[in-house]
Amino acid sequence: MKIEEGVELARYTTLGTGGPARAFARPESEGELEGLLGWAAEQGLAVATVGLGSNLLVADAGVDALVLKLGGRLAAVAIGGQVLRAGGGTPNAVALHRARAAGLGGFEFACAIPGTIGGGVWMNGGAYGGDFSKVLERVRVAAAEGSGWFTPAELGLSYRHSDLQHGRVVVEVELRLRRRDPGEIKAEVRELNTRRKAAQPTNRRTFGSVFKNPEHELSAGRMLEACGLKGYRIGGAQISPKHANFIENRGGARTEDALALMAEARRRAREAYGVELRHEVELLGTIELPALR
Ligand SMILES: Cc1cc2nc3c(=O)[nH]c(=O)nc-3n(C[C@H](O)[C@H](O)[C@H](O)COP(=O)(O)OP(=O)(O)OC[C@H]3O[C@@H](n4cnc5c(N)ncnc54)[C@H](O)[C@@H]3O)c2cc1C
Repeated sequence: MKIEEGVELARYTTLGTGGPARAFARPESEGELEGLLGWAAEQGLAVATVGLGSNLLVADAGVDALVLKLGGRLAAVAIGGQVLRAGGGTPNAVALHRARAAGLGGFEFACAIPGTIGGGVWMNGGAYGGDFSKVLERVRVAAAEGSGWFTPAELGLSYRHSDLQHGRVVVEVELRLRRRDPGEIKAEVRELNTRRKAAQPTNRRTFGSVFKNPEHELSAGRMLEACGLKGYRIGGAQISPKHANFIENRGGARTEDALALMAEARRRAREAYGVELRHEVELLGTIELPALR
């Protein structure tokens, strides 16, 4: 199995920032994956998986770990009855396309989540009232200690959260769907995508929502907008003029620019509303957000 050194992770994140991985590999079967997990354990090297990098902020200095990108059989889809089996590396769009072609509904909520199945399980991705926990039957997870199937409850799936830790890789999932007319699925997806495009900067380099919505009458986006942050820029990163809970790469952005924007946003939300915003984006590598004082 080929293990590369110094692969720039900016190529694998939708924001387009992040430094090199100490080691990088693309397993295409569970056997290859197990071999790599064993190799990393022997080397005493941490393991992290990237999906489509659509919720990922990677340290500019890089990541001292074996970074995995799943492909081949680990990104394939099969359908039996009303159950869709998908590899952890499968893009949501591919799984949704296959579900629609088979006349299976229930995964439409994922149409605007530009990630993979594994990334969706990691943070229980969701939109429009649906989320992964509602359709997941079980999840196969591989780790150096061994592999096994887990229910969503066993993985602790809750609002934008699972208990998964780096080193545990989502290899495959089973989604329980229900019969639905493909034309109806198509119409719903079109409507959801239209709503999404009207509200969010879908044609820019972003990593989705920066902060989770706080327990407050205002969403994180509305709160940051009220703080006057729309369009605020540091280096090559800018708080989206369209939606204040998004950060755009306006050209040449670095992760440190995005982090500086996040720190400023948290400071202002705390000052104006007494709210401590918690980030939704996953941080990879040695990254710390400054504490609020
Ligand atoms: C324009 C835009 C809109 C978005 N809208 C939404 C939305 O409506 N709802 C929503 O929930 N999210 C949204 N997101 C965020 C993002 O798409 C989701 O969080 C998605 O589930 C991330 O998947 P990914 O494959 O890109 O994961 P990555 O960003 O690559 O990784 C995210 C985390 O998952 C882990 N991970 C990835 N794959 C695996 C695996 N196979 N095994 C174990 N761990 C893994 C990574 O290590 C990392 O910690 C949006 C993002 C963008 C850019």
